[in-house]
Parts: sequence; C-alpha cells; structure tokens
Amino acid sequence: MKITADFHTHTRYSHGTGTVNDNTVNALSLGMRAIAITDHAKNHPIVGVKPEKIDAIRKDITAVDKEYRNIKVLLGLEANIISPRGDIDVTEERAEKLDLLLLGFHLTAYQKKFRDYFGLPWNGVTHIFCKNSAKQIAFNTDATIECIIKNKVDILTHPGFRIDVDYAAIGAACAETGTYMEISSRHRTPDRSGMEQALKAGAKFVINSDAHKPVNVGKCDWAISLAEDMGLTENEIVNISDKPVIFRRGLTV
Ligand SMILES: [Zn+2]
Ligand SMILES: [Zn+2]
Repeated sequence: MKITADFHTHTRYSHGTGTVNDNTVNALSLGMRAIAITDHAKNHPIVGVKPEKIDAIRKDITAVDKEYRNIKVLLGLEANIISPRGDIDVTEERAEKLDLLLLGFHLTAYQKKFRDYFGLPWNGVTHIFCKNSAKQIAFNTDATIECIIKNKVDILTHPGFRIDVDYAAIGAACAETGTYMEISSRHRTPDRSGMEQALKAGAKFVINSDAHKPVNVGKCDWAISLAEDMGLTENEIVNISDKPVIFRRGLTV
C-alpha cells in the first residue's frame, strides 16, 4: 500500500522547515498526484498563519502548481478547536479562499474565552498523566463533533491525540458530515481499536504524513502498516488509489 496524495503538510509559513516548492518536490519524487500545504491557523501560538498571509501562500502555491504538471498543489489550513461550542479559528469567509480545511485539537491553541481553557486544554494536560475520565471523554467528543457539524471541515486531523475521544461517536459524525478521519503516522492515532470503532460507525479515512520537514512528506509507514494489518482497502481509505477524492467543501482531486 502507498499513498497517492498527502493532504497534510507544513511549511515555513507556520513551523515547518521547508517551502511550498520543497514539499512539492518531495511529493513528486514519490510519484504522488496531489499535495496539500496545510499550515497551522492563527490561534496556534507564535507560528499560526495570520489571515493576511493566506494570499501570499496562495501565490506560492499557484506558482508551484503551474511549474509541475504531474502534481496538484492545494491550499489548506489546519484550524484549531477553540471552544467546546463548535468554534474554530478559521471563519467560513476565510475558508472559502482555501481548497480544503483541516481541523485538529492542539493543546496550546488560544481559546475563545478564558473559561474554555478549563475544557479541552485542561483535559489535554491531565491526559499527560493519566487517561481521561468517562466524563472528560464525553466532553472531548461532544466538542469535536460540534466543530465538524458547525464548520465545513474536510479532514479531522489526528483524532485522539492528547485527548481521549469516543471513536464510534466521532466516526459516526464524520460519516454523516462527509469529513474524513485522518490516520496520523506522525502522532500514531487512532490506534487499532479506535479505527475499528470508527469504521463500524461508517467513517472514511485519509492517511497523511503531517510532515514538518520536506523529507517527511509522504512518510506514513506506521499508518500504512496499521491499515494493511486491518485489511483496509481503497473502499475505506480515500488516498491510496487513483480514484478521485471528493471533499466536503466541494473539491475533487
Ligand atoms: Zn496538528
Ligand atoms: Zn499538522
């Protein structure tokens, strides 16, 4: 099994080390037909992409996309969950400038209100020491689902990273909304049991590298070996064949 497109990579626009061109060249060398540049959105401390930078990234992407005929280069952002009420740090107006929108939980992201730090971020901190309680899991799950219902999210990145979630419930919400669940090689999540629960609920998956260095673009060994072990095929994972990938926001690649 190998991935034919990597829909989650970072560049110097947030805290990756390469440029749009560097990531694309690596994806091309692996024979991929598409790559998405998906830097962190604005509430990621220090490195988050300021909204006024989006046009500059688009300019870079258009130039690189024109240069290489065999690969499609896409503009995305990895938005943050910033409240348990479905708030994210990319407005729909800004999301319309993107090709695809990713969303993930990041422990240090600035929250919408001060009291929100006692929700997901607090659960993330306690998770460093022990598994989240049933009550925390329900909270994390509801918060994630609120976000993907209220916002047109194409890919939910690294579900279960830093907070425990109910994979069956999140998988069902992903299936219902047309959001793909990421199998993250970088963060090694979801685990096999999480995958099985989400699968049963009807979720579809995408395998991404979440590369922060050009050399890591397309590197998905952990996720691929999990998917192979589970006997998954292009029916469950959308980016391991040449079949077009249809995203929730309307893009087909
Ligand atoms: Zn992330
Ligand atoms: Zn990322």
